[in-house]
Amino acid sequence: MEGESPYASVSSAPAWRGLLARGALLSACATRLAQLYDLSFAYASVLGALNDLAKAAGAARAAASDGVAVSDAAYRWGGAISEWLDSPDTTAVDERLLLEEALALSATAESVDPFRTLFAAVGELAVGVYGDRWPSPVLRLNDLPAHPRNPPDHYAITAKTTPTDPPAVTLMVHPTGFGPASFAAVPCLLAHECICHVPAKQDRVKNDSRFAEGLMDWTASYVFDASVAHILPDLSEAAKAHSGAFRELFATATTPEGRARRFGHIAANHLVVLTMDDLDVSQAEAERIVARVARDLNCVQAPIDKKDLLTAKLLGLSEPTPLLSDVLKGVRPAADLL
Ligand SMILES: [Zn+2]
Repeated sequence: MEGESPYASVSSAPAWRGLLARGALLSACATRLAQLYDLSFAYASVLGALNDLAKAAGAARAAASDGVAVSDAAYRWGGAISEWLDSPDTTAVDERLLLEEALALSATAESVDPFRTLFAAVGELAVGVYGDRWPSPVLRLNDLPAHPRNPPDHYAITAKTTPTDPPAVTLMVHPTGFGPASFAAVPCLLAHECICHVPAKQDRVKNDSRFAEGLMDWTASYVFDASVAHILPDLSEAAKAHSGAFRELFATATTPEGRARRFGHIAANHLVVLTMDDLDVSQAEAERIVARVARDLNCVQAPIDKKDLLTAKLLGLSEPTPLLSDVLKGVRPAADLL
């Protein structure tokens, strides 16, 4: 019925409308999100315009329908940008150009669930990787009362995958911090969930798994970087710019999860070197082979501890064992991505 949130997991209908409006405005500006983020550190007008976007989305919480929420927010934000353009202090060429572009883009905001759109695009990527082994997960959305990390960063998002049937990916958003950087990092975050966890066949969830959070994260990054321009052409510039910074948050963490991520990436890169040597192939081809091996291992039903042990053993190899060499030669190319 009209007035409800499409996500049972969002705390209230007004909370959904606020998130929808915010996401719709950011989505409309997809091609300029990287610049909106960067120039907000250079110009008070751009920072002010982003604060006005948040205010416009906040006002949309009271709207009677999703369509009104987005059109009201776009109208309010457009008015606010116009005021910044009218200010005698808004004089720099790049500042004015960006605000003029944002003004034009704000008018194109549509009442379409931006989270579902991003999830569908990443799902397309995952189908290309897993083919008929892709289990078509459902998306859940949560509005977080606080930033997911402490100290807070520019990425007010996190996610988790629940191994139900079908699997559920929950995207968690802290609305107050959900700006250009957060929006641009959502595809990278969803790609981690979809490539590492959604099709995973293992006995339990293990947050510090060297395989699931390390070797598979390397694979997710490989696939995402190779495909983002294809699956999200408008957002790809900002998504590329922010995926690196977003991944750094995890790769530099001194937690067990951070160590697992680094270990798995090192193991993957070591296997790339072994593969280049063993099969006499280029680095690019070796990376593709390693990504295929990781993907196939992810689909094998086995205890996660065994997959972790295998990941650890990779680092101890100075050359592939005969069995591993056969695996590297024989991995099944799937669909069009790997
Ligand atoms: Zn994970």
